[in-house]
Amino acid sequence: MKNSLSRIPLVVFIVILLALPQLAITPEFWITQLNYIGLATLVVLGLVLLTGVGGLTSFGQAAFVGIGAYTTAYFTTQMGWSPWFTLLLGLGFTAILSYILGAISLRLSGHFLPLGTIAWGLSLYYLFGNLEVLGKYDGISGIEPLQVFGISLAAGRNMYYLIWLFVLLAIWSLVNLLASRPGRAIRSLKDGAAMAESFGINTAAYKIIIFMYAALLASISGWLYAHMQRAVSPSPFGLNAGIEALFMAVVGGAASVWGALVGSAVVLIIKDQLQNWLPRLLDTNANFEMIVFGVLLVIVLQYARDGIWSYVVAPFQRRRDSRAERLAPPPEAPLLPQRPRPVSGQMVLEVDAIRKEFGGLVAVNDISFKLSAGEIVGLIGPNGAGKSTTFNLITGVLPLTRGKVEFLGQRLDTLLARDIARLGVGRTFQHVQLLPTMSVLENVALGAHLRSDVSVLAGTLHTDRSREAQLLHEAARQLERVGLGDYLYEQAGNLALGQQRIVEIARALAADPVLLLLDEPAAGLRFREKQALSQVLKQLREEGMSILLVEHDMEFVMELTNHLVVMDFGTKLAEGPPAEIQTNPAVLEAYLGGVDEEAAHA
Ligand code: ADP
Ligand code: MG
Repeated sequence: MKNSLSRIPLVVFIVILLALPQLAITPEFWITQLNYIGLATLVVLGLVLLTGVGGLTSFGQAAFVGIGAYTTAYFTTQMGWSPWFTLLLGLGFTAILSYILGAISLRLSGHFLPLGTIAWGLSLYYLFGNLEVLGKYDGISGIEPLQVFGISLAAGRNMYYLIWLFVLLAIWSLVNLLASRPGRAIRSLKDGAAMAESFGINTAAYKIIIFMYAALLASISGWLYAHMQRAVSPSPFGLNAGIEALFMAVVGGAASVWGALVGSAVVLIIKDQLQNWLPRLLDTNANFEMIVFGVLLVIVLQYARDGIWSYVVAPFQRRRDSRAERLAPPPEAPLLPQRPRPVSGQMVLEVDAIRKEFGGLVAVNDISFKLSAGEIVGLIGPNGAGKSTTFNLITGVLPLTRGKVEFLGQRLDTLLARDIARLGVGRTFQHVQLLPTMSVLENVALGAHLRSDVSVLAGTLHTDRSREAQLLHEAARQLERVGLGDYLYEQAGNLALGQQRIVEIARALAADPVLLLLDEPAAGLRFREKQALSQVLKQLREEGMSILLVEHDMEFVMELTNHLVVMDFGTKLAEGPPAEIQTNPAVLEAYLGGVDEEAAHA
């Protein structure tokens, strides 16, 4: 029901798309314009993935269009090779080049990445313009039109179908990718990279992948362009074109796939109209359209930050939101494999004199403690005692100054966060790190990343459906377990902060951990919710889970834990069974002192 309804606009769109060139009244000029819009959309789709979703800004996409265009131009005219072969060849060149450029420039952070893309955009442009074999600034002409099943695509109306076939395929594959296991990883890159690493996601690798993906789409656009135009020269592949593509992505809505189409159409149509009208209005032939364009961009950025597409879908979005809670959970699917559990009482975590210095501040001062299977250990202490830092040392988020951490007999302190996750360490964060615009279900499915092997290719081609169903089923199961079964399709950011913490627990559980580290899970929960959480944690302990718990609610901690470690100013003050700690004079003084101090600040 839901699917068939939401497909209606898509079907209408495709029918119009197919019919347009068949209508005799459609002017040739429109067809040409639509062809350019299609070519631009391919490039902009790449930018949606790279910039809008992945958060990596590139001004240099036009250079990859150039690679695709020049490869086919050169090898079809000079060597007489088949254009279908040169398509693959161009994609090959683009893959190699984008891999190398990506590996170099993606390591640059902040402003350096966009600057890097400008640099390569410029250098490739001048390379095209200066190479004798590529015809220097005159370029290459005499490119043959494409033939499909013996039909020549020389006419714009014929080329139109091939271009839009590629556009639809690109949209289809990108929508598929974004709704898959690798897609969720990609959607975490912009705002949740550190969190993603803690769930085993290799963010650097995914950055290179989306960089290559975007470059390959641009390269296809270049191949189509060359055979439509029948000639290539450097100017359409310069920095201006790269900036224009980015502009289209922003105008349409940089993070939405359909926004790419809308942005390309709007920008190209406005540009064309400006070129028609400005010279007449201003009575000059000077190039004023770029100036008007700049002003328009500023206005869009000011008033429609999420692009035009967000306004198109907003009314439908509201309807879907109100229906969200009524939607059924994802269908049952075979359970994901579980890792073997340690036997009860087996040593799980051994923290040996770990130390962390931030400049002169000793945040964690040679802390040691142990945790065995089926045990809940509480780590308590006033604010600033070093509890969260201890978590970050154990999970590899921060490097140790010195000391040793062993997990099931294996050293952790030499491993990366994502490798520690792989061994079976799951965690939550004191400052909630969910992806707020992603559904609760998908946020939790992200936690199960390592329990599946769906590749970018499988996600793109939609061959991952059974494995995706397993992931979503697992996520739903964990959400049911923690009592959030009614919020599966809610945007995570819409939940109360206390509930978001519980979503984090579900996400950690979806990773099938042996050891669970919870940083203030009960903060912001109401009394009944705390009781329910306490129940869940006891149940997990029954099942043999080991839990390290940071929590300020003493009643909650005392009732739940087998063992307590008390920290103050980075140093271990005491440890022992909760009952003993409760009456320990040193603890009382430091801890109550801390509480008093807090009260005084409040
Ligand atoms: P807790 O979780 O017990 O409240 P934290 O581990 O967050 O305490 O902080 C311990 C101390 O380390 C605090 O004084 C805090 O300001 C400091 N600290 C934590 N993280 C950093 C950091 N990345 N850089 C510098 N100082 C830090
Ligand atoms: Mg903390």
